[in-house]
Amino acid sequence: MPQTTYPRQPSSFLTEDHEAFRQTVSSFVEREIRPNVDAWERDGQCDRELYRKAGTAGLLGLRYAEAYGGSDLDFMATCVLAEELAKGDSIGTAVALMAQSEFALAILADEATDAQKEAWMAPAIAGELIGAIGVSEPGAGSDVAAISTRARRDGGDYVISGQKTYISNGTRADFITLAVRTGEAGPKGISLVIFPTDTPGFEVGRRLDKLGARASDTGELFFDDCRIPATSLVGEEGHGLRYILSHFGGERLVIAAFAVGIMERLIELGLSYSAEREAFGGPILGFQTWRHRFAEMATRLEATRLLAHQAARLLSDHDPAGDIAVSMAKLHAADAVQSVAAEILQLHGGFGQMEESPIPRYYRDVAGFSIGAGTSEIMRELIARALI
Ligand SMILES: Cc1cc2nc3c(=O)[nH]c(=O)nc-3n(C[C@H](O)[C@H](O)[C@H](O)COP(=O)(O)OP(=O)(O)OC[C@H]3O[C@@H](n4cnc5c(N)ncnc54)[C@H](O)[C@@H]3O)c2cc1C
Repeated sequence: MPQTTYPRQPSSFLTEDHEAFRQTVSSFVEREIRPNVDAWERDGQCDRELYRKAGTAGLLGLRYAEAYGGSDLDFMATCVLAEELAKGDSIGTAVALMAQSEFALAILADEATDAQKEAWMAPAIAGELIGAIGVSEPGAGSDVAAISTRARRDGGDYVISGQKTYISNGTRADFITLAVRTGEAGPKGISLVIFPTDTPGFEVGRRLDKLGARASDTGELFFDDCRIPATSLVGEEGHGLRYILSHFGGERLVIAAFAVGIMERLIELGLSYSAEREAFGGPILGFQTWRHRFAEMATRLEATRLLAHQAARLLSDHDPAGDIAVSMAKLHAADAVQSVAAEILQLHGGFGQMEESPIPRYYRDVAGFSIGAGTSEIMRELIARALI
């Protein structure tokens, strides 16, 4: 089948350097990811070696200081990385890499001490360690302020007891940027610690079996009187919720940029298929209904790209408007990519149901886009608060 290349609209937000970086990531995806994703999807996790390869290629520390192996780039580069990783036919693989590079490390880059960065961030950027972000619990998802995993101060240590769930990279992370309750109930009693997973009392429960993103392991974690030094605290005690909320922007941007990459890939797959596949004496692409649906899909894609790139620019500039822009980008992206995945599935007829094509996997993978990193209901609430 001839491969169609989607004629991407130029983005005034991207420089030649960003486009050169896009080529680097695209080659990495073709060489190191796409040939392996079927096996990783079956295994329920990507190969650990992929982190080393991504680290060597400079993909795990884009926005972080060169002193720790990072590249000192901006959120536009994060967008480009996420867009290209998402085209590898396995969003789970992209999640596995970016849950480390953007979710677990972003707070450390801004709030950790030099010694903490040296010990955890630098090896994670090199791909030698795997990191996770541990916030969600069985009783606290959207309502982050309700977490109950307790860190009790005991001399020079914290003693941690509780449970986390739905943690990406959780079953094999070397460390977790972990939200714990060090004080009173509610938002002011939350702190963050760097939790080494070889700490006695820590146990991985089930590796959760889920609808999509199957090449990313998602874990249930148990903490039973886990003793870690008080020097593991990130930033100031009681400021954890503020650190978490102020870094959600990066996570939401990654999801919006994943959606952009996926829509490009799906439209390319759809154009190629429908140019070849014939019905009633001509190609499916000849039917006006499909030509117009492609026009709508491309418009949704470009609108999502603009929202995401605008949000990336504002976040890079530390503009307070970035928080709302990124909520709009993520809200729109989830709706857009879910509708495009459904259209492309429909376009492929019976073949769209077959696991030998990447279409069903994408259809499943994007279901979580309206949940992870803040649900669409929470995005609407955040946007509404800025309006009303
Ligand atoms: C594959 C996957 C990977 C994940 N990875 C991580 C990770 O690495 N680290 C981590 O900490 N967490 C992770 N999560 C957890 C994720 O952040 C939560 O699932 C998400 O925040 C929603 O929380 P919840 O599942 O508890 O849903 P709930 O908060 O129970 O929400 C249930 C429903 O109620 C709605 N709702 C809640 N509050 C409101 C409100 N105020 N107004 C209107 N509707 C509302 C929600 O939108 C949703 O539709 C992951 C989840 C998944 C599925």
